[in-house]
Amino acid sequence: MASGGAGSVHAGWSFSWRMEVCATEEEVRPAAGVAEATAEGKLWRPRRVLITPEAYALEHGRVMLARAESFGAEVVRLKSNRLMGLGASAGEDERKAYALAKTSFAIVVSPPGQRKLQPIPPSADWQFHVAQGCPAHCQYCYLAGSLSGPPITRAYANLPEILEGLRAYAGLGGVTSKSLERMGEGTTFEASCYTDPLGIEHLTGALEAAIGFFGSWEAPVQLRFTTKFDGVGRLLALEHRGRTRVRFSVNAASVARNFEGGTASVQQRLRAMRAMAMAGYPVGLTIAPIMPVEGWQAEYSALLGAVAEALAGIDGVDLTAELITHRFTPGSKEVLLGWYPKTTLDLDEGGRTQKRNKFGGFKYVYPKDPMATMKAWFYGAIAEVLPSCRVLYWT
Ligand code: SF4
Repeated sequence: MASGGAGSVHAGWSFSWRMEVCATEEEVRPAAGVAEATAEGKLWRPRRVLITPEAYALEHGRVMLARAESFGAEVVRLKSNRLMGLGASAGEDERKAYALAKTSFAIVVSPPGQRKLQPIPPSADWQFHVAQGCPAHCQYCYLAGSLSGPPITRAYANLPEILEGLRAYAGLGGVTSKSLERMGEGTTFEASCYTDPLGIEHLTGALEAAIGFFGSWEAPVQLRFTTKFDGVGRLLALEHRGRTRVRFSVNAASVARNFEGGTASVQQRLRAMRAMAMAGYPVGLTIAPIMPVEGWQAEYSALLGAVAEALAGIDGVDLTAELITHRFTPGSKEVLLGWYPKTTLDLDEGGRTQKRNKFGGFKYVYPKDPMATMKAWFYGAIAEVLPSCRVLYWT
């Protein structure tokens, strides 16, 4: 997925660890545990796949196991339904344990609590989860403030049950369904809060299943997900019936260059967006996390120009934009500095203001004046460069 804040991913893993930047050269066949760039997009190849007994009992679990094995992963059949021994324990090399978790793919059954849906304002009426964790290495990743436990990517074997469970929520939305501007979208379901689902689609097939599920669901509903990957090949011919909006998470060139790792490049994401738009999907931009880096107007202008170029010549593109500024919490800062001790990401509380939530917590956001300046600039620039684009929100 996903990038920062509203409606997407990462957190709570406090081991010291260094990012493993993935190879992208197509002529080099990558080792397991890194990503492979192919015609199908950038594909993550985990070093090992773990499966619990209850996940192995389900057909979708065994299908994912076979896929991971075909990508070269070593198979580990667990004896317990709990993922054990993936974190650092006393005396263990924390760095090693952390890297081991990040290069592993686990197939489990989703926790019952996750099947009780929660709203995810301002993105969607409901969030649901087909997986948890992401193989990429973005130094600002919001999962750092929202998940706990070792950073192993877990995919859920009970996918049919998860999808069927969505039916009970149709017509019950309180976020986009209550918005005059967005109620036409129907009840909205966001699938990228805890993961980047396209980044693991070659292993899970979860998006293919979900897009088909929403396409055949005779109700005003919409599936939404956001991604920093580009492996859309298998999604292009699906019967989506316009009920899935895929957003590509993009950023200024220097932000992507300095702080993203293991993802598809912004240019590759825009090519994938063009392919999805040509296949008739509603598409979108998640511009996140927005940062006022030096020369930010020029950098974000270039980004918007690249988007316009990517979509040129396609009639009737349904394009939206979601604008999310950079933010962090004391907890996410601690985790991110543990993961990326040499990061140059601006995590200085002195340049921020506190934004409180209804649960008593807070995050550090940019102060009011720079926020207002950036917001006005983005709304103006998008209206000028992408006149048909609907901006859904700024946060
Ligand atoms: S792509 Fe980057 S920001 Fe998105 S979930 Fe993965 S690591 Fe986090």
